[in-house]
Amino acid sequence: MNSGSQEMRTRRQHPVTQNSPSLAISCTAKLPQDVQISPITGDDERGDFNSNNDSSASGLLKTLHISTRLMDDFLALSKSNTEKDLETCGILGAHLQEKETFYVTTLVIPKQESTSNSCQAINEEEVYAIHSERSLCPVGWIHTHPSQSCFMSSIDLHTHYPYQVMVPEAFAIVVAPTDASRSFGIFRLSDPGGMKILRECQEDGFHPHKGPEDGSPIYELCSNVYQNSNLRFEIIDLRS
Ligand SMILES: [Zn+2]
Ligand SMILES: [Zn+2]
Repeated sequence: MNSGSQEMRTRRQHPVTQNSPSLAISCTAKLPQDVQISPITGDDERGDFNSNNDSSASGLLKTLHISTRLMDDFLALSKSNTEKDLETCGILGAHLQEKETFYVTTLVIPKQESTSNSCQAINEEEVYAIHSERSLCPVGWIHTHPSQSCFMSSIDLHTHYPYQVMVPEAFAIVVAPTDASRSFGIFRLSDPGGMKILRECQEDGFHPHKGPEDGSPIYELCSNVYQNSNLRFEIIDLRS
């Protein structure tokens, strides 16, 4: 009767989740019929970010999968801070599967100090210990903008830079519940443009950055991150 939707459902099933013995136990359940894997970008209604692969080396990057629930779950555990206009941050750990796809399976909420426009993890070695225990790659971080719009501040860019030095695929998720036009964004520094600016910048605190010489934006939306409705992830909250 409705062969169109059948076809759509088949196309959305991702082969990796079906033949991944090492990861099957830790982060995927038995594949349900309605698993959905969808790219996140491509809906840049404001048009103020470039997620075009031509602007950087992102066409060569490995794919990353995050849980469909990640942003909502993170927002829920940030609630009491958000109500006080304080940021919250978390660090994302992933398994690399068959050398080609990162599955984000762990969100660690470190002990932290925050204001309305900044958030600083403390005792980060606790996070490193969890990652090394579980053989996870630190592929990115997530933080709220409780009252600001969805963008990467200069401090955010400096926080993000070492992640992207370590793992070229690393991304930063900004969750901005009060931004009506973009409630979340998944960003990375453009490479080489933005990476070079950050490598050479010695300033701290909030400060302006010049745009890269090649005319690219300093940071861009990721085009290689997918939301996966079948990916389980664990939250480890170190705050209490
Ligand atoms: Zn921020
Ligand atoms: Zn700077």
